[in-house]
Amino acid sequence: MFDIYALLSLCKCQTFIEWEKKIMLALTKKMIETKLNLKVFGNWVMIDETLYPLPLVQGNSKLGESVYHGSTLPTNETITCEYTDKSGTIHKLSESGTCPFTCKGCYGTTNNYNYESTKYYLIMRTRLLKNYPDIYFQLVRIQLESENIEKLRIHATGDFIKNEAMGYYNVLKDFPKIKAWTYTKVENDSDIELLDSLPNVNVVKSVIKGFGFNYGHCDYIMKVYEYLKSNNESVFICRCGTEDKNQPETIQHCSNCDGCSNHKYVLFIEHSTKYNAKKDKLFPEIVKLIHSERNLGKKMYKKLKSAGIIKMVLSNV
Ligand code: SF4
Repeated sequence: MFDIYALLSLCKCQTFIEWEKKIMLALTKKMIETKLNLKVFGNWVMIDETLYPLPLVQGNSKLGESVYHGSTLPTNETITCEYTDKSGTIHKLSESGTCPFTCKGCYGTTNNYNYESTKYYLIMRTRLLKNYPDIYFQLVRIQLESENIEKLRIHATGDFIKNEAMGYYNVLKDFPKIKAWTYTKVENDSDIELLDSLPNVNVVKSVIKGFGFNYGHCDYIMKVYEYLKSNNESVFICRCGTEDKNQPETIQHCSNCDGCSNHKYVLFIEHSTKYNAKKDKLFPEIVKLIHSERNLGKKMYKKLKSAGIIKMVLSNV
């Protein structure tokens, strides 16, 4: 059968990438209109005469374009916004955030996330999930199919609300080839544990018992890393915040890293706040630690390769 995705992947120049996006969106629109009998306008879907954003969006420069993500409203506070749309209509609304805590320096409330239009978008997406969960997950299913998604970060901001983990479980168990991950501060939730039990899903724990959150200054990250390693836990330090802009090979995207899809704990060096990790006296130490982690992977690869194991695995693919 004619495979549109195979054809498009052969033609990865910018023009074709733009065309690819347009074709995917047209497929999504067609499937939503046919299967759910709902009208779609660009990335928005009309339900009961109100427009809601589609659940999944393509990643930005940090995530990489091959990673799609969902998002809910961050913090555990009420977020309000006043947004004027293109037609000049003013929208004023407020909605409560989905996180069990509000983190210090939460990136979901700073920089681009502080624009009224972004807050409006996140409020409406959260309302779609809260008020129409069945439609929300049918839309997720359609987007995963029609946009040929391979990597999904379930939340770029926010955390699980009631029934959401079960909704993702029911969808993602039918898409075993999609790698999905997310982070949570919710503890002891059987639905989240069930979702995490899927082989293609990883839920990273953002709270480390006895310490606190999974991000902080260099000294904190080193302490937590040593503690988790000494307890034989699966832990990884994200390279974000340590990159050198003059050395493009050090720039990290989630599309070329599987840290979060493979580890129970992922530690983040504080960024997007006044703290500047590069001025910390422990910065060289943390960079060394991050590199040693990756070199360990390379050394292991070399060992497996010289033992003929890589060849054997590849010949069976
Ligand atoms: S560890 Fe890798 S996958 Fe996780 S946030 Fe950092 S770059 Fe992305």
